[in-house]
Amino acid sequence: CGIVGYVGAQSALDVVIAGLKRLEYRGYDSAGVAVLADGSLAAAKKAGKLVNLEKELVAHPLPTGSTGLGHTRWATHGGPTDANAHPHLDNSGRVAVVHNGIIENFAALRAELAERGHRLDSETDTEVVAHLLAEQFSAAGDLAEAMRQVCRRLEGAFTLVAVHADEPDVVVGARRNSPLVVGVGEGENFLASDVAAFIAHTRSAIELGQDQVVELRREGVTVTNFDGSAASVRAYHVDWDASA
Ligand code: GLU
Repeated sequence: CGIVGYVGAQSALDVVIAGLKRLEYRGYDSAGVAVLADGSLAAAKKAGKLVNLEKELVAHPLPTGSTGLGHTRWATHGGPTDANAHPHLDNSGRVAVVHNGIIENFAALRAELAERGHRLDSETDTEVVAHLLAEQFSAAGDLAEAMRQVCRRLEGAFTLVAVHADEPDVVVGARRNSPLVVGVGEGENFLASDVAAFIAHTRSAIELGQDQVVELRREGVTVTNFDGSAASVRAYHVDWDASA
């Protein structure tokens, strides 16, 4: 339902939680976050309101990192449980992904992954993406390229945002039939399903087009089409009043 990604100099967790709060008005049934810190990935997720996730983070704090993502879920496949909340991780715990929308061909992908020895822990359509990204990252060594390859196999509507512990300063996003906007900052960049999530930090935005992948680093943003070709994007200034 709501997605936030961040890379920069601030605490990613603080930026992501604040961003998710700005998206609460859209409604949701679960929430979760992941941060990259000290060469590994740490995640927390909880059914219910953001306050449940915040309590969990007080009880079991995550390490502080400056790359991260978060999600508020509106369940379509699998009930609103902790296990079905996003982010979803692969079996190595190195990849985390959040997703808005529906992956129509998830059942076939699930069966294929199970055959290759993957263990799937949730009932969601989303989890297959974490496993596919892990496989493609092993082959490509590059998360944006892994995302392009995975997206070419997906059917349906999706906004995806992912991180990999082997690329600690990168956040990757992708979209088809579902919105994703980049917030361009100075030495920091944001990704969100809605500009409301980052408007407190920057009003410089880039709207991703259909079937595009974005690679976010502190110092820059690279957008490509799913086939790897350079993409044309629309940069604009967000001038509506977010406090309204
Ligand atoms: N289809 C996914 C799920 O049920 C994503 C739902 C959403 O857009 O929040 O987990």
